[in-house]
Amino acid sequence: MNLPKISSLLLAFACTACQGTNFYSVNDDIKMGAQAFDEVKETEEVLYSGPEFDQVQRVTARLVEAARKVDPSIANSFNWEVCVIREDDTVNAFCLPGGKMAVYTGILPVAGSDAGLAVVLGHEIAHATLRHGTQRVTQGALTQLGIEVFTQSVEISDDESEREMATILAEVGLGLPFSRSHELEADEAGLTYMATAGYNPEEAVGFWQRMASKSAGAPPEWLSTHPSDSNRIRQIQELLPKVMPLYKSSEHGLQ
Ligand SMILES: [Zn+2]
Repeated sequence: MNLPKISSLLLAFACTACQGTNFYSVNDDIKMGAQAFDEVKETEEVLYSGPEFDQVQRVTARLVEAARKVDPSIANSFNWEVCVIREDDTVNAFCLPGGKMAVYTGILPVAGSDAGLAVVLGHEIAHATLRHGTQRVTQGALTQLGIEVFTQSVEISDDESEREMATILAEVGLGLPFSRSHELEADEAGLTYMATAGYNPEEAVGFWQRMASKSAGAPPEWLSTHPSDSNRIRQIQELLPKVMPLYKSSEHGLQ
């Protein structure tokens, strides 16, 4: 690694608070996500038919259509795909970089309806279009590089070790929870997508209240990585006047 590159990395490290920093390209998002998604499909019990499968595909199709309308440059570059994993006790869903998503059957009763499920999937689609996954991996890489440069004066001169580190960080980074600001950003874009798709965004308030009441006992997995609190519900309520007109004018709305 040459000197100018190191100084630019140090500059970037000084800016780890800037969450938008991303070392990866959109193509990296697509490749990284597709690879991880293949692994998910190989290791999990994935459904390919039935009412749960149909519901998830139906809601996803409408939301992806909306995301393509709202954020065409990024949403049109992804090959969107969602799978349904049979795990009735797992209240969870996730989106890998590049638009590869998974929904666990355990979250479907909490969603309760297509509109409730659109809250979950709109939020996940937003993590993908906002490229939060690789932003998070970048932050992990910056922290790691910063520690090495500052404490050990390690100079990374070998392309292979860089690649290895990128792989390790991608694995670790993709498993980490999103930050609170990523969560709120995903909530906001997700509401826009669901409203544009013709799902009533007011449903988001009830959905997050149901998730919050679920956490009264053992917290469901999605809650442990998706902090549900009064701030989140308050932000949603504040955004409703902005997104309701999108819902009312959507092709699918008020049916
Ligand atoms: Zn999230």
